Amino acid sequence: MLGSANADLVVEVAHRPAAGETVLGSDTRIMPGGKGANTAVAAARAGARVALIAAVGQDEYGASLLESLTAAGVDTARVTRVPTPTGLAFIAVTPDGENSIIVSPGANARLTKADVDLGDAAVLVASLEVPIPVVEHAVALAVRDGVRPVVNLSPVAELSAATIAALDPLVVNEHEAKVLADYSHGDGPRSTVITLGARGALVITDDGTEHIPAPQVDAVDTTGAGDAFTGTLAARLAAGATLPDATREAIAQAAESVTRKGAQG
Ligand code: ADP
Repeated sequence: MLGSANADLVVEVAHRPAAGETVLGSDTRIMPGGKGANTAVAAARAGARVALIAAVGQDEYGASLLESLTAAGVDTARVTRVPTPTGLAFIAVTPDGENSIIVSPGANARLTKADVDLGDAAVLVASLEVPIPVVEHAVALAVRDGVRPVVNLSPVAELSAATIAALDPLVVNEHEAKVLADYSHGDGPRSTVITLGARGALVITDDGTEHIPAPQVDAVDTTGAGDAFTGTLAARLAAGATLPDATREAIAQAAESVTRKGAQG
């Protein structure tokens, strides 16, 4: 797994502060987050042996992220510590359940190509809260070494046609899928999975398109559903599942995750 690790600082407020306004909030909840770390934890819970390639700061947030990853069964030997503050997400939650989020990438922006070591991995999973050249380098190494490359195009960023063409699968949600049209100049990914929220997911391969529905659940918090999905998908692929079967299990896990609060909860 290659991606971000952040500390999420969550404060509940009665309303979002307007320009120049100060609003008093609840006590701060500090939660482990970042798309890379969330996905790694989901993959570990799905039974995979997972190493995270990421960068955190030499501060207390970095130390506690390493601790929580290790507790979740993620190998952190490839998480580098850099003299830049750990990535932070400042999250204000209003009573309607809407989030306003400021992300300070911090150490995540300091991840370098030299930090990428795929070891004996069967699958590489990357998300895009880290420098894009590092992701593209990792995918190129995966192609060279026969490692199956999976990219969750989140947050949306532009990847080279060569990188896209290697992906098996590219994972996008419905919003991210809109940018796929822009890739029509290249060959397109080897396979694509489009997540459809409560409607499940589409699996697109050379064999055609299959819609796999999601179970009906009482959604409490959909934060991190995509990460739970991608982590489980990668774990099942690494264990030898077909893409449709891996997607079925990813849908089941992600549906379960939206019934609980928190991205890694
Ligand atoms: P993202 O979290 O990246 O926006 P989606 O909203 O498409 O992605 O959700 C990813 C996956 O999480 C879906 O494919 C589905 O399996 C599951 N999921 C999300 N929301 C729900 C929901 N309300 N009910 C059941 N499953 C859900």
